[in-house]
Amino acid sequence: MQLELTAEQTRFQQAARDFAATAVAPRAAEIDASDRFPAGLVSAASAQGLLGVTVPEAWGGAGRDYVSYALAIEAVAAASATLGAILVVNNSLVAEVLQRFGTAEQKDRWLVRLASGRTVGAFALSEAQAGTDAGRQETTAAAAGDGYVLRGRKVWVANGAAAEVAMVFAATGPAAGGRGVSAFLVPTDRPGLTREPTADPLGVRGLGCVDLRLDDVEVGAGALLAGPGRGFDVAKWALDGARIAIGAEALGVGQSAFEAALGHARTRQTFGHPIGRYQAIQWQIADSATELEAARMLVLRAAAAKDVRERITLEASMAKLAASEAALRAADRAMRILASAGYRRGTVVERLLRDARALEIVAGTSEAQRMIIAAQVAGGTGSR
Ligand SMILES: Cc1cc2nc3c(=O)[nH]c(=O)nc-3n(C[C@H](O)[C@H](O)[C@H](O)COP(=O)(O)OP(=O)(O)OC[C@H]3O[C@@H](n4cnc5c(N)ncnc54)[C@H](O)[C@@H]3O)c2cc1C
Repeated sequence: MQLELTAEQTRFQQAARDFAATAVAPRAAEIDASDRFPAGLVSAASAQGLLGVTVPEAWGGAGRDYVSYALAIEAVAAASATLGAILVVNNSLVAEVLQRFGTAEQKDRWLVRLASGRTVGAFALSEAQAGTDAGRQETTAAAAGDGYVLRGRKVWVANGAAAEVAMVFAATGPAAGGRGVSAFLVPTDRPGLTREPTADPLGVRGLGCVDLRLDDVEVGAGALLAGPGRGFDVAKWALDGARIAIGAEALGVGQSAFEAALGHARTRQTFGHPIGRYQAIQWQIADSATELEAARMLVLRAAAAKDVRERITLEASMAKLAASEAALRAADRAMRILASAGYRRGTVVERLLRDARALEIVAGTSEAQRMIIAAQVAGGTGSR
C-alpha cells in the first residue's frame, strides 16, 4: 500500500498552500464579516486551476486526480472555509457532474465556463421540507411542448448569488422516494427565476447562499441532465464526491483550529509556566492531532478510491463524517484552550467554530452519513 504523495501531488498541494497564504488568508476575516460572495478571489482561484480541478484540460479544467483536489481544498479551507466551500460546490456538485453525465452540447455550453472559472455553478436539491429527506421534492417540472416548466422553491443554494447556472432537482413523475426526480441545468437569467439571499448564516459566510424561486420557469429539453427520473442517481453520485471534498475542507478548518490552540498553549502562561506544559492541555492537543490525522487518512483513501472507481459511497460518507466531526471537536478544543482570548467576535477561533459546525450539516448531516454507512455495511435505510 502506497501512502506517499507523488511529486506532482505535492507540487499542486504546495501551490494551493502558497495561494491560500498570500491571497486567501488576508481576506478571510472580511469575507466572514461582510457575508459577501468573494468574486475577485474566485477569479484568482480559477487562475490556479481550482475551479475544475479534476475536469480534463480539453474542457477547461486542470486535469488533476481526486487526491490532488482534496489536498488543494484542505489548503484553501485552512485559510477560508468559505472559499473552500465555493470551490467544492463548483467542482464536485456541478462541473464533475456535467463531465460525468452531460451531453456534448451541455458540456460545450457550460462545462468550459464552469471549469475555467468564467462563472460558477450551483446545486439546488434542498427544499424547506426536503433536507435529509431529500426524496420529498415539491418542486415540479411539467413537460410542456418540447421542454419543461419548473415550479417550486429551493433553499440554501450555495453559490446561488453568483451562479449563471443552477442544477435544479424537480419531480417529473409521481414515483416515491426520489425515483420520479429529474435534474435540470437552469440558466439563472430565465424569466420566473428569482433569488433571495439566505438570511444571516452563522458560518461559511460569503458563500452566496440563496433561496431560489421558480415560478413557471421554462427550459428546453436540452436542459434535462442524464434522462428523466435519473435525478437522484445524479444527486447521489455528486454528493459522494462532495462528501470527500467537504471532508477535506473540514480538515483545513480543523487544522487551523489545532494550530491556533497549539500557538496559544506555547505562549499563554499561568502559574509561571506555558499552559502547554500542563497535561490537561497536552491531552487535548494530542486528541485533536490524532483525530485530524485519522480523518485525513479516510479522506485521502476515499479520494484515491474515487480516482479508480465509479461508486465510493461508503468511503465518502466515512470520510465526511470523521473529518467534519474531528474538525468540530478541534475547533471546540481550540476555543477551550484560548478561553477568553478566543471567546470574542472576530477571533479566528470563533470563526472556525462557526464554520466547522456548518460542515457537519452540508452535503448531509452526521446522522445522514451514519444512515448511509449503516445501509452500506449492514443493510438498512439510506437517505441522502
Ligand atoms: C451552509 C449551508 C449550505 C448549504 N448548501 C446547500 C446547497 O448548495 N444545495 C442544497 O441543495 N442544500 C444545501 N444545504 C442544505 C443542507 O443540505 C441541509 O441543511 C441538510 O441536508 C440537512 O437538512 P435540514 O437542514 O432540512 O435538516 P432536517 O432534515 O430537518 O434534519 C433535522 C435534524 O434531524 C436529523 N434527522 C433527520 N432525519 C433523520 C433520521 N431519519 N434519523 C436520525 N436523524 C435524522 C438531522 O440529522 C438533523 O440533525 C446547505 C446547508 C447549509 C447549512
